[in-house]
Amino acid sequence: MTQEKDYIVRCASCRTKNRIPADKAGLTAKCGKCKSSIETQELFIGKPLILDDTDFSAKVLLSPVPVLVDCWATWCGPCQMIGPIVEQLASEWKGRIRVCKLNVDENPATSAQYSIMSVPTLLIFDNGELKDSIAGAAPKHQIVRKMAPYLG
Ligand SMILES: [Zn+2]
Repeated sequence: MTQEKDYIVRCASCRTKNRIPADKAGLTAKCGKCKSSIETQELFIGKPLILDDTDFSAKVLLSPVPVLVDCWATWCGPCQMIGPIVEQLASEWKGRIRVCKLNVDENPATSAQYSIMSVPTLLIFDNGELKDSIAGAAPKHQIVRKMAPYLG
């Protein structure tokens, strides 16, 4: 018996959810419906993915799994507090949630698009849509509770 669960990843082409057995984690899968390749390697790194304005759509909106984006700035004290929590979550949610970081000063287009007024702000995306957000430095249990519906 293994206690590892299967992973649920969405095909970037047809958006169908595919079940990936735990022992195939990190390999390239084929969508059961449209046969497109589903790259899962990046989901199992266990570290936050650094986003910028150029790859935001590809990494977030077309993500095979739900996404948590930590919008932060170097000069922001509370951002330094939430940073280690985000690192932990990236490791704990490996393969299930894509955890990302977006430096708002370096990426003004994305910050404007999602009307980020203050940092830190956490954005939650699923299937290409902004689903929820958390403004301010939330404690870990609050972030976990907000993400519970997406942890499958
Ligand atoms: Zn597909």
